[in-house]
Amino acid sequence: MQKTISLIVPVYNEERNIPLLYDRLKKVLGRCPFNYEILFVNDGSNDCSASELKKISVLDNKVKVIEFSRNFGKEIALTAGLHNCFGDCAIMLDADFQHPLELIPEFIAKWENGAEVVVGVRSNSSEKFIKKYGSLVFYKIMSRISETELLSGATDFRLLDKAVISEFRRFTEKNRLTRGLIAWLGFKRDFVYFNAQPRINGVPGYGTLKLVKLAMSSIVSLSLFPLKIAGYLGIFITLVSGIMGLFIVLEKYIFNDPWRMNFTGSAILAVIILFLVGIILSCLGLIALYIAHIHSEVINRPIYVIRKRENF
Ligand code: UDP
Ligand code: MG
Repeated sequence: MQKTISLIVPVYNEERNIPLLYDRLKKVLGRCPFNYEILFVNDGSNDCSASELKKISVLDNKVKVIEFSRNFGKEIALTAGLHNCFGDCAIMLDADFQHPLELIPEFIAKWENGAEVVVGVRSNSSEKFIKKYGSLVFYKIMSRISETELLSGATDFRLLDKAVISEFRRFTEKNRLTRGLIAWLGFKRDFVYFNAQPRINGVPGYGTLKLVKLAMSSIVSLSLFPLKIAGYLGIFITLVSGIMGLFIVLEKYIFNDPWRMNFTGSAILAVIILFLVGIILSCLGLIALYIAHIHSEVINRPIYVIRKRENF
């Protein structure tokens, strides 16, 4: 039986890109020996994207449209796409031509060679200074502190096998970074490298502030390290001030100040307060450990991921 490829395209105010994208996609997909569906997720656009999508979906029943009631963000739009596609694999693609669609056959070829996740990796970035270095810093921090490895330059332009998609559907968390969750799932990966193109029409839906927010919530959802910082700091402060306190007690009260240091009352008070602050922070760290447990129970991630079952 002929296999089906699903294309998932999140759309936010892309009225001018939609007709162009549709034409180019049809050309590329027409050359592939596969059945296909194009699934547009209209993420609460407030321009004419909805009517543009309507126009092509009435003419072509391979085009499917999901329309959100408001803007939920690209991560959620991609999730909705993955929840509603029917293909043997799905390819996620930006609507603004920043992901070169001529590479789609290459993704499919790697998939046919056995890769279950094919990730598009951007080799040079045409983004502005803040975005470029911001994302560099984000990936550096993430790979340091979280257990899921995120590759810098890895984009959402990627292909997922049916098996990966069905496991992806089990995630229940609301704050999500689709890339991060896919990385967490594992599976056999392969990469396609491409040069980033500038956006063709319209403006990026992700301004700097929105990206910073996404970065923060991704760090919080994929890593518990920030929660534990207070605890580490507390242990450090407690140790240092404990040693200082011990020194004062020995020097001043036990040996009667042989080195003539003349600790004042306020110095002693400062050390006592520091010690107590250290203890409070350590306790916060302890609470953080409990919260970490609650957090991992609440987000309810699958506890294991299966690639395949034989003879069931
Ligand atoms: N997008 C979306 N919802 C949003 C913002 C963007 O679905 O709230 C879509 C947008 O239409 C595009 C893709 O996500 O297809 C990438 O968006 P954008 O170009 O703004 O992001 P960037 O390329 O700057 O990462
Ligand atoms: Mg873009």
